[in-house]
Amino acid sequence: MSRAVKRAFKYRFHPTNAQAAELSRTFGCVRLVYNMALQARAEAWAERRERINYNATSALLTAWKKTADLAFLNEVSCVPLQQALRHLQTAYTNFWARRAKHPTYKSKRRSRRSAEYTASAFRWRNGTLTLAKMTEPLHIVWSRPLPDGASPSTVTVSCDAAGRWFVSLLCDDVTTQDPATGIVGIDAGLDSLLTLSTGEKITNPRHERADRQRLARAQRDLARKQKGSANRAKARVKVARIHARIADRRRDHLHKLTTRLVRETQAIVIEDLAVRNMVKNHRLARAISDAAWRQLRTMLEYKAAWHGRDLIVVDRWFPSTRLCSACGALAQKMPLNVREWICPCGAVHDRDVNAARNILAAGLAVTACGDDVRPQRGTSRTGQSSTKQEDPRAAKGIPFFRAGRMSRHHRSPARSFT
Ligand SMILES: [Zn+2]
Repeated sequence: MSRAVKRAFKYRFHPTNAQAAELSRTFGCVRLVYNMALQARAEAWAERRERINYNATSALLTAWKKTADLAFLNEVSCVPLQQALRHLQTAYTNFWARRAKHPTYKSKRRSRRSAEYTASAFRWRNGTLTLAKMTEPLHIVWSRPLPDGASPSTVTVSCDAAGRWFVSLLCDDVTTQDPATGIVGIDAGLDSLLTLSTGEKITNPRHERADRQRLARAQRDLARKQKGSANRAKARVKVARIHARIADRRRDHLHKLTTRLVRETQAIVIEDLAVRNMVKNHRLARAISDAAWRQLRTMLEYKAAWHGRDLIVVDRWFPSTRLCSACGALAQKMPLNVREWICPCGAVHDRDVNAARNILAAGLAVTACGDDVRPQRGTSRTGQSSTKQEDPRAAKGIPFFRAGRMSRHHRSPARSFT
């Protein structure tokens, strides 16, 4: 079986000076338009309880372009500006649906510099890509081929903090859906990146430890440089380059892992991060592991959709670490340094493998209950509280595997950002 999907292919490219200038100008205009539209929408709501939609912000943009102060908006392609308004619309739709927080302003320093071009704003001919307002095609490094006969429907250009340019081409593609069997639970750890219920431990990418040390040193250097100096700017780029390298290696690592998991297994059970986050931990390792976890989930979502697999997200907190996966008894407190423990029933547990097995069991229980069973939803969504609410039965040591609401991602958006 095969399935038609939208798939993004991302490449580096080397702009000419003129192209870099044009794109930088466009990024600036995109950010400005996004922020002004956001302000207009936020004010309309705060002052008049009025919801401004995409069409209204589009009319605002037309008006802004006619003013003397903002006439420079006419110098860049209008499509990325319109797309920025569409992105803002999506952000608001997610906000109103309570799927996301209120959109925030794009900062010059911190936000991603990018511009999105739809078909009317680029020319794709014989494998070359020319953007609006440019005479020459982009010099793209084709690190892997596009699928045969593919032609992009949307093109996103971006520049990261390390000064590297990327172009992402959204194309139609076809994925195969060969049947698979089996179900696996995954737990995110600190020592190893991930642990599978099969007992397999996935370690961090190679060289990451060394990279992190290098990063810490570069950050110390940066902190010592005088504000506003040229040396400080140089040090900042150096920090950004190391960050970028860590992120690249990790993404690569996660891509290989998720592809393998999705190929080998029919169903994958993971824990929802929002639930995990209820326990605060400010360690750097935890922050990085959380970022990896979010990325892993995104990858699993779209790859599961591509290949017809089930992704089961257990979003009800339960004491996965302290619960014996063999007999269901609950152990006492389990400090982070306890890597192995023995249950009174005789089972010897590796901390992380045991947690992954409990997540698997929770996923199996939810699968058996069916899609519509949502036991005790109220208590599973306590929202912002920073302390976990333990299930009273769990506190008494009574085994339970009723994981709360589950979401199956058969139909998640089949779109990637690879
Ligand atoms: Zn036991």
